[in-house]
Amino acid sequence: MSLYLKYRPSDFDNLVGQDFIKDTLRKAVANEKTVGAYLLCGPRGTGKTTTARLLAKTINCLNPYDGNPCLECEICREFKSESLVDIIEIDAASHTGVDNIRELIERAQFLPTKTKYKIYIIDEVHMLSKGAFNALLKILEEPPSHVKFILATTETHKVPETIISRCQRYDFKRISHVDLKSRLLYIAQNEGIEVDDASYDYIIKNSNGGLRNAISLFEQLISDKKISYDDIVSKLGIISSEEINLFLDKLLNKDIAVLELFDTIINDGKNIKLFFKELIFTAKNIAINKVKTGESIENYIFILDILDEYYIKSKNSLDENTTFTIAILKIIGNYETTTKKENHIQKNIVSIENHRELEKKSETNKIEEEKSEINISKSDIEDIFDFGQKEEKTKTNNSNFDVNLFIDNLKKSGAKGGLTMALRGSKIDYYDDLLEIKASSSITKKSIDSSDNHSLMHSVLGEMGIENIKIKIV
Ligand SMILES: [Zn+2]
Repeated sequence: MSLYLKYRPSDFDNLVGQDFIKDTLRKAVANEKTVGAYLLCGPRGTGKTTTARLLAKTINCLNPYDGNPCLECEICREFKSESLVDIIEIDAASHTGVDNIRELIERAQFLPTKTKYKIYIIDEVHMLSKGAFNALLKILEEPPSHVKFILATTETHKVPETIISRCQRYDFKRISHVDLKSRLLYIAQNEGIEVDDASYDYIIKNSNGGLRNAISLFEQLISDKKISYDDIVSKLGIISSEEINLFLDKLLNKDIAVLELFDTIINDGKNIKLFFKELIFTAKNIAINKVKTGESIENYIFILDILDEYYIKSKNSLDENTTFTIAILKIIGNYETTTKKENHIQKNIVSIENHRELEKKSETNKIEEEKSEINISKSDIEDIFDFGQKEEKTKTNNSNFDVNLFIDNLKKSGAKGGLTMALRGSKIDYYDDLLEIKASSSITKKSIDSSDNHSLMHSVLGEMGIENIKIKIV
């Protein structure tokens, strides 16, 4: 059995994080105020399925105490041995069809065999087909009093509003560093595994706030009853934090020696993508700490912008070493370009001043000549200042992008009428890495610009094969 399953909590006390949700549900069970349908939303591995199972068990437990299951009664024991037929778990990813849901509804009419309530846990509920959602909606509208539904999803925006509005909704958050660490410490202690601090940090950093990710990675890294950071470094081809700090220092100083260092890292066969991820993570953390103490982070932002951009680019690159080399060159090279630009401006200003000196001394006809020269210099300077804007204007507008198809797909993916209407009234331009929506009014802009709409648009664009794109609403 995997460690994740082995350490799946059997009561709410051992559920990691999600304190508010835990407390609310426990109180509801203790006061017998549970509802007919729950919707648990949130990222993977944050405890949705575990909570659903705990809730189902506790609602039916014969001797619950303080909103927790007793773990000793017949129901609790049968639940543990998975022989309880009245708590039904369905993975919507593999039961998407309307027939599955119809069958479920037909069976829901029968009373539970042993428990107070028949409970349906539907995981990844957003995967259901339209027909299946309609069938589910029917039973949610008039649920038999002996039935409860607990729906869970990682993609709430794909669940129809009609379903959401009939459920009590709980949003699960990513689990904090402290909570993840205390759970891993508990497991390590119980399993007799020796783990050093740097390894905990590494595991938690790479688990994206998900307990399942953290425990899986933890388990993968165990060798001979221990996890050591040195082992991780050599096993995964990652680079020690000292080396990362050294590299970052050289980047910040625009030190050309950073290229040599990068060569060494490549030649050592290190995992370059992982290295850049760590580099970005380290730079980001230092920048955050500097902001807190009121220090300037301009140079960090400059570096992070470029690293982040090229990290994304590397995903579609055939040769990531080259992609990252370009990023490094851009960082150490851009400093020179800026200096050159400044020198250019400086020179022009000096020449204007010289011209002015001459102006005073020269005869009228000469003055006219000088003036025209001065004008050229001025427009040169304007050109330099205008550089950024011009770059913006020359972006290629990709005419292959089908706006109507995009809106139709949004509709199919459950976008509300308000959004599709607002989009139809807007001018939509698609560039290589940018979808620019020019809303017809500030009210329209507001109606488009919500995080739910953003994630829906991103997922529809993804389905159309357009990824890593920014959506800008103006
Ligand atoms: Zn019990």
